[in-house]
Amino acid sequence: MSSGLVRETRFTTFDGTLSLTTAHQRPDRFCHLESPDPTRHRIPRGGGYAYSAASFGESSLVQDLTCFNRFLAFDAATLTLKLEAGVRLIELMEWALPRNLYFPVLPGYPLITLGGCVAADVHGKNPYKDGTFSDWVKQLTLFHPQKGYITCSATEHPELFAMTCGGYGLTGVITTLTLQLTELPAPALTLSRYSVANPAAAVDTLSTHGTDIAYSWHDATPGAHFGRGIVFSGRWSQCLKQPASLKFRPMTATSRARLPFSAWNGVTARIANAAVLLHGRYKHDNPETGVLDTAFPFASNVYFHKLFGRPGLRETQFLVSEVNIGACLEAVQKLICDTRAPTMMLSLKRFRGRQTALSMSGTGWLLALDCYRNERTDAFLGQLDELLLAMGGQVNLSKDSRVSQDIAAHTVAGLAEFKRYLFAYDRERIMRSELSDRLGLS
Ligand SMILES: Cc1cc2nc3c(=O)[nH]c(=O)nc-3n(C[C@H](O)[C@H](O)[C@H](O)COP(=O)(O)OP(=O)(O)OC[C@H]3O[C@@H](n4cnc5c(N)ncnc54)[C@H](O)[C@@H]3O)c2cc1C
Repeated sequence: MSSGLVRETRFTTFDGTLSLTTAHQRPDRFCHLESPDPTRHRIPRGGGYAYSAASFGESSLVQDLTCFNRFLAFDAATLTLKLEAGVRLIELMEWALPRNLYFPVLPGYPLITLGGCVAADVHGKNPYKDGTFSDWVKQLTLFHPQKGYITCSATEHPELFAMTCGGYGLTGVITTLTLQLTELPAPALTLSRYSVANPAAAVDTLSTHGTDIAYSWHDATPGAHFGRGIVFSGRWSQCLKQPASLKFRPMTATSRARLPFSAWNGVTARIANAAVLLHGRYKHDNPETGVLDTAFPFASNVYFHKLFGRPGLRETQFLVSEVNIGACLEAVQKLICDTRAPTMMLSLKRFRGRQTALSMSGTGWLLALDCYRNERTDAFLGQLDELLLAMGGQVNLSKDSRVSQDIAAHTVAGLAEFKRYLFAYDRERIMRSELSDRLGLS
C-alpha cells in the first residue's frame, strides 16, 4: 500500500471475536499522517495485538503507525532513549541487549509496538516490582489533527500525559516517546518452576518470592483437578553464555485464526493442561534462559493461541485487592465448577501501582482467565462480571473484548475523570474506536 493513500482493510481483534472493514492508512512520513481532513474520525494502531477492538472502529480511519519505527536519540548519562512509537518491542530489545541495556516492562509478544504499550499501559512479568509501562516513559509527543503536535511529560502538560498513558489512543497519535532504560542486570535468567495445588498456594508462594520474574499458570478446566499449577520464578543469572536471539514466525490476528474450528474443548484442554503440569513437575530449573525467551514466551509457543482457531477465544483479566483475593479465588473456582465453564487457563500476577485514565494498574492481584468459545462462554463471563463487581475488582480493557459501559464504569476507577477530561480536551471527539463507542467515550 502506498503509505499516504487510504484503502479499505478488514481488521480483526486478536481474540478473533470481532471483525470489521474500515478505511486504513499506513503513513511513513509526517505529512501523510497529517494529510486526512482534520474533522475525520480516526484511531491510531500499532501491532494490532489488543484482544479488544481498541485500534479500529466503524467509520474511523485507522492510522497504522508501524512505519514510524526510527531510533532518534540516546543519552548515555541518563540511559534515556527517544524513539518513534511504531518501534516493536523486539527491535527495542535487539538494540538494547548488545549495549548491556534493558527495559523492564515487556508484555508477552515481541511485535507489540511502543505506542500500543503506552496506550494500554501494559505490564510485564513482575508488575509488583517493575510497575507498568507508563512508569518508564519520560516524555511523549502527541499529534492531534485539530491541535497539532504537543509534547507532554510528568511536568509539561501533566494532565494530558496522564490521560495518554492508558488512554487507548483517544487523546491523539503518539509519534515519539522517550523511555527510561536500565543497565542489563546480567546476561540471562534462571527460571524456576514450582508445582502448586491451587491458585491460593500460588498467591502464598508469589508473596514470599522477591524475584525478578513472578507469575503463575493454572489448569482452569472444571473438576477436582481445578487450579493445579506452576509458579514461574526467575532471577538474573551471571552465567557467561550469551542468550540466543529470538527465533519466531510472526503471528497476527489473521494467522492465529487459520484453523477453521477450535481444537480446544473440555477434553483437549484438560489433556493439554495435564501435559504442561507433568512437564513442569520434571523440569524445575532452566539455568540459562535467554532474556528474550523469558520476556516473550508466546513467540515460540504459538499453539496455545492458534488452536482456538477461527471461533477465537475470550480472555478476561481483572485486578483484585490483596484483601479480597482469597475470597475471589474461592468464588471463581465455585462458579467454574458449578457451571462447568468453558475455561482453560488461569494465571496470576502480583501488582503494585496507581490506576489512572483507563489503565490496568493498582495494587493487588491480576487474575487472567482464558476460555474457548461455545454457547455458554458469554453467559459464564456475564456471571463472572457480577462476581467482579462484588469483589470490587478492575477489568483490563485491552484483554477483554466484551466489557460493557456499565461494567467499565463500576470497575475502572479513573474512567469518569478520563471521560470528563476527554470531552473537554476534544469536544468533537475526533479519535474513536469500537472500544470508545462501547464505553460511551465517542
Ligand atoms: C500473545 C500476547 C501476549 C500479551 N501479553 C501481554 C502482557 O503480558 N501484558 C499486557 O499488559 N498486555 C499483553 N498483551 C496485550 C498487548 O500488550 C496490548 O494489547 C497492547 O496494547 C498491544 O499493542 P499493539 O502495538 O499491538 O497496539 P494495537 O493493538 O494496535 O492498539 C492497542 C491500543 O493502542 C493504541 N495505540 C497504538 N499505537 C498508538 C500510538 N502510536 N499512539 C496512540 N495510541 C496508540 C490503539 O489506538 C489502541 O487503543 C498481549 C497480547 C498478545 C497478543
